[in-house]
Amino acid sequence: MNNRTIDNRYRVPPKTKIDLDKWDPADHSAFDGDKDAGEKAANKLNKRLESLQELLYAEGKHKLLIVLQAMDAGGKDGTIRHVFDGVNPQGVKVASFKQPTPEELAHDYLWRIHKQTPGRGEIVIFNRSHYEDVLVVRVHNLVAKDVWQRRYDQIVAFEKRLAEEGTTILKFYLHIDKDEQKERLQARLDEPDKNWKFAKGDLAERALWPQYQAAYEAVLSRTSTELAPWYIIPANRKWYRNLVISQILVDTLEGLDMHFPQAEEGLAEIVIE
Ligand code: AMP
Ligand code: MG
Repeated sequence: MNNRTIDNRYRVPPKTKIDLDKWDPADHSAFDGDKDAGEKAANKLNKRLESLQELLYAEGKHKLLIVLQAMDAGGKDGTIRHVFDGVNPQGVKVASFKQPTPEELAHDYLWRIHKQTPGRGEIVIFNRSHYEDVLVVRVHNLVAKDVWQRRYDQIVAFEKRLAEEGTTILKFYLHIDKDEQKERLQARLDEPDKNWKFAKGDLAERALWPQYQAAYEAVLSRTSTELAPWYIIPANRKWYRNLVISQILVDTLEGLDMHFPQAEEGLAEIVIE
């Protein structure tokens, strides 16, 4: 598995009309091996990610923003748990975006988002994001059409500004199909430890599957840019999803050409009594 293969298969080129029916959520073609081998490969990448994150933190120069979006049960939480397993929590932050509070609603929709973006040396993972404002908001008509229609361009401009000011942005849409969602929601009902993840409202959202897919297609078609690309990650197989995302993160961080800060002079002569 290498970056070029992944980019060719899963990265959405700017201004490309996306039809999600043509993207196989069960694809695992960029890796030549089974689940066991895939998990081993992901573990190796995870160790590499630990070191790269430490370097990012130590250098204190770059900022990395990772956006995760998916349908309910699409695997956002599992991705964060697995891909960042063992990574030093200092310097890595997860920002989860729920239904906006009254205070957040009193501001423009990017207000709460901007506050959570990474500073130098930081990695921030968005568990849901500003894209909810053209997804759930669009599907449920929470604002007028002309208001959400404008937001695609606003989002592109917002991300461009972040990128030009030194933020590396990666956006992952975890692509599952409706059968897979059914299985995962059913598991949340069947397994007591998972009950807390089930909300009755999830069924109403599931009934809106086609509307959500259309809203995602608009997002992917209109907001993937060179500076802030979308990747459509086949996510029916959790091991493959984790592997592809880990590989993209490692390749991206390696591409940043980071260095540990210059050590103070004369360290070699120091004797600690
Ligand atoms: P969960 O991720 O399962 O905790 O659910 C969070 C809920 O908040 C989801 O149903 C999202 O669609 C919803 N949500 C997130 N952002 C927004 C937003 N900007 N407007 C309305 N609902 C939102
Ligand atoms: Mg939920």
